[in-house]
Amino acid sequence: MRHRWRIIAVLALLWAATPAFAHKPKAIVLFYADDLGYGDTAVYGQAKVPTPHLAQLAKEGCIFRDAHSATPICTPSRYSLLTGRFAFRRPGTRILDGDAKLILPVEGSEESEVTLPVLMKRAGYRTAAIGKWHLGLGAGDAAIDWNGEIKPSPREAGFDRSFVMAATADRVPCVFISDGRVANLDPADPIEISYDRAERKWPDELTARTNPECLKAWGRPSDRQHDKTIIDGISRIGHMRGGQSARWKDQELADRITTEAENFIRQSAGTPIFLYFATNDIHVPRDPAPDFRGASGLGIRGDATVQMDASLGRIRQALAENGYDDTLFVFTSDNGPKVADGYEDGAREAWEGENPSAPYRGGKYTVFEGGTRVPMIVAWPGEVKPGTESAALVSQTDLARSLARIAGVEVPEGACGDSRELAYVILGRSAEGRESLVEQPAWGPWGYRKGAWKLIDSPDPQLYFLDDDPGERDNLASACPEKVRELQAELKSIISSP
Ligand code: CA
Repeated sequence: MRHRWRIIAVLALLWAATPAFAHKPKAIVLFYADDLGYGDTAVYGQAKVPTPHLAQLAKEGCIFRDAHSATPICTPSRYSLLTGRFAFRRPGTRILDGDAKLILPVEGSEESEVTLPVLMKRAGYRTAAIGKWHLGLGAGDAAIDWNGEIKPSPREAGFDRSFVMAATADRVPCVFISDGRVANLDPADPIEISYDRAERKWPDELTARTNPECLKAWGRPSDRQHDKTIIDGISRIGHMRGGQSARWKDQELADRITTEAENFIRQSAGTPIFLYFATNDIHVPRDPAPDFRGASGLGIRGDATVQMDASLGRIRQALAENGYDDTLFVFTSDNGPKVADGYEDGAREAWEGENPSAPYRGGKYTVFEGGTRVPMIVAWPGEVKPGTESAALVSQTDLARSLARIAGVEVPEGACGDSRELAYVILGRSAEGRESLVEQPAWGPWGYRKGAWKLIDSPDPQLYFLDDDPGERDNLASACPEKVRELQAELKSIISSP
């Protein structure tokens, strides 16, 4: 009898020590679109925007129908994805300016603060962040030295290789930062950056107010935030001078970061890689390359989506050409869509009568479903069944623990505290996703999902049953006060827990 128990104990130990999967993927790629809505691509129903590479990925993998970014805006969604922690746990995690300090914990911090890229490094992957960063740079103890070494940068946050935009394309500085240094900078033409609210920072500064004749037709601001320094014919948020040789051309932006991703893949051939590719598409300002102009039936915003799809195709091709057939590929978006977002670029007119969140309501900045319910497609040859769909409720916050499990690396105690280990769900093998989900607002009331129930927790609460009412039109709050109270109590408990 004792002998049998010993065998059982040994078997249990072996089971616990066995990695989740027979092997770990040679490459893990997170392709993070920007402001791409649930209903923005042909895969999710928008026939006027051809996205053949995304369609191919979907054909090879699993389409998620209820996957969510942590918030309906950029910075906190990215923070949650890369830390496995809800952004509201870290005060000050809002949309950052281009000169904000780094908000990710640096490598070597407390074990309870370990990030996804650091976990991937521990699992043996060479890690890279390419594209949009928007998580801050520097320690915040002094102004960032754009003309020297910028530290901490993505490298200190766990990325062996980085080639990033500091924030967004609509914010200065409009330069790429390669492994902690501004790329192509002429030291004789140093960069100065200011987020001073002044109309004009320097007497020779060209802004949308002083020199509207210098603006491209689609680079005109529609608000008082986007009307500062004109760079490449587009006015930006914030002031910049100097660094002429380092400034990007907006029409070359997608090609440039995609080329850097291809280079990283090629130079890493033979080594396991974790690539976090954060495209600028389809965030404003939208200025797709001439090749993509008119490529969609929905103006500049649709064309930017076709450009994003081309980047996806190029990265997948580079993986295939460099021995990375065994790639776990995750495509998703950092928040829902916003058709007109600071520029008069013709998107509003082109999208008249269209809903980029379809069939959901709201988009970027909102806690209606369209704010955080985003496209997500996962493929991994031999591990994800091709051509499948999943209705499981998942959060991008869950990727940290799930990818760690797939990569066979232990998550330290207390780390990734809001991340659920849903590896089998992410791979489309289990439909048992989250029971509930917090939808952190950009501002205003919070959203909370429990199954098909949806609460918007304002003083005049809204309650929807999404199975019958995906568009959140039929407020059931007064008909179901007990359900409202139940969901309010659960939401409060999650937010107030450490
Ligand atoms: Ca975004």
